[in-house]
Amino acid sequence: MKEILEDLLTRATAAVAATTTLDELEAVDTAFLGRKQGELTNILRGVKDLSVEEKRIAGSRANEIKIELETALAARRELLQEQSEDTTFDISEPVLPRASHGTLHPITQISEILEKFFAGLGFTTLSGPELEHDYFNFEALHIAPDHPARDMQDTFYIKDHPEWLMRTHTSSMQVRALREYGAPLAAIMPGRCYRNEATDVRHEHTFHQMDGFMVGPKISFAELKGVLLALAQHLYGPDTEVRLRPKFYPFVEPGVNGEVTCVFCKGKGCKLCKHTGFLEVFGAGMIHPEVLRAANLNPEEFSGFAFGLGLTRLAMLKYGVSDVRLLQNSSVNFLEQF
Ligand SMILES: [Zn+2]
Repeated sequence: MKEILEDLLTRATAAVAATTTLDELEAVDTAFLGRKQGELTNILRGVKDLSVEEKRIAGSRANEIKIELETALAARRELLQEQSEDTTFDISEPVLPRASHGTLHPITQISEILEKFFAGLGFTTLSGPELEHDYFNFEALHIAPDHPARDMQDTFYIKDHPEWLMRTHTSSMQVRALREYGAPLAAIMPGRCYRNEATDVRHEHTFHQMDGFMVGPKISFAELKGVLLALAQHLYGPDTEVRLRPKFYPFVEPGVNGEVTCVFCKGKGCKLCKHTGFLEVFGAGMIHPEVLRAANLNPEEFSGFAFGLGLTRLAMLKYGVSDVRLLQNSSVNFLEQF
């Protein structure tokens, strides 16, 4: 009797260890401990027919084996249950935090808003070289080698090649684009620009601009005003006004300084707009005849307007960024907010 019991324990333990699914485990459970035909159940049932001496020994061992088997079955059941849960989709599991996916840089976001707006007005988006020839950055835009405007746009030059420089504005694309595609043409040129500048909260040696222009047979100052007003109202709401005041830029005639109703005080006057109620947002004007000539166009036949926006400045205004350097330093803590 003792041998039969020990053999049963060996076989049952091996059978439990060999199971890989809960169904297999239940089958083993039934085979050994099933109430009707379980092997051990049958033995326990027959104990009453044994002699008193055998009954004492076999009965107690059989009960020990029963407990041992039940323990092994329970442990195996728990393990198999855990494994089956691992491969199941857990609907309550939290999603990864949003920041780990990254977000678009605030300047990229502003640029995309503007690109969409201008596409609606029929403007093409162009990009061009950041390392630019002196001719397209200055001379073609009516800024001669000894022009004082060059002092305000000092930049980084290539050693031993003074005619190559890091562009100071994306207007450098204006003559390139008109030579390439001819007129009529309306385009915006967003991109990175450079100035040899000491950095502080308002100045940075690398910044982003978006220049644009429209050239055609009868483009007038009225079109310029219309486009700038539509742009300002798109960015800051339908009550926004545009104020244009004369300003000198070598490549336009006449040139204007474009201001919009202060977004912070709605024109009442505050510290940020220096109590004028207006914020300077763009420079603009009618393209100078010399620039059209440089683009191989006859100024008697074609006219056009050009404008420039500081994307860096627009991003700072929109998101309330007080230090321009934050936009370049790649701090995750800063960028996570956008
Ligand atoms: Zn204000």
